[in-house]
Amino acid sequence: MIWIGDVLVSKGEGGVYNERTLGEARVWDPYRSKLAALYYLGKGVELTPDMCVLYLGAANGTTVSHVADYTNTVYAVEFAPRPMQDLLEVAHRRNNIVPIMADATRPELYTPLVEAVDLLYQDVAQPDQAAITIRNSVFLKRGGTLILMLKTRSVDIRKNPAEVFEETLALLSSGGLTPIESLWLEPYHHDHAAIVCTKPRD
Ligand code: SAM
Repeated sequence: MIWIGDVLVSKGEGGVYNERTLGEARVWDPYRSKLAALYYLGKGVELTPDMCVLYLGAANGTTVSHVADYTNTVYAVEFAPRPMQDLLEVAHRRNNIVPIMADATRPELYTPLVEAVDLLYQDVAQPDQAAITIRNSVFLKRGGTLILMLKTRSVDIRKNPAEVFEETLALLSSGGLTPIESLWLEPYHHDHAAIVCTKPRD
């Protein structure tokens, strides 16, 4: 990852969402992006130029644009029409974002569009986040990495966040993914946890 002093940045065309710039670099704000928060907390996987990424819950493409600055190709899935309009604009200005308007609960609909990926990033904030992840893990290469941003209150507002967190870890494990690190995103995002898993090689 690229840091200028203690500021996380990415190198690409700016002006995507009025982000700040430092010289030629785009500032990646941990309060606006859970993935940036993960890097500020000293965790996460290094994004590299050879990586293909499947990104679920692309919204209007702010985090997607930073991921695309670091990687080879980002397949960006979003189902809501309004953010999709912004995402199309972001994709238009970069040559490595493939916007896909689809429901992430139905990966069979975009199977023809997506290749095997090195990183599966999931930020859909839905009650069935673990199930959606497992269904989409068919696209993840063996040895690849999953990063799940878990919004515990979206899963079950009545449950203790720690309980939701433990249940999600168990579901991911039973779905064939091996958790390697997990942490709360405080102080950047409340009631959000990041879970990083790998898909075993055999
Ligand atoms: N990842 C974004 C970022 O960092 O800029 C923020 C994502 S926002 C928390 C969650 C997004 O997931 C929303 O835009 C929502 O429309 C989308 N979403 C929720 N359920 C979805 C589904 N089943 N399929 C596709 N997109 C979904």
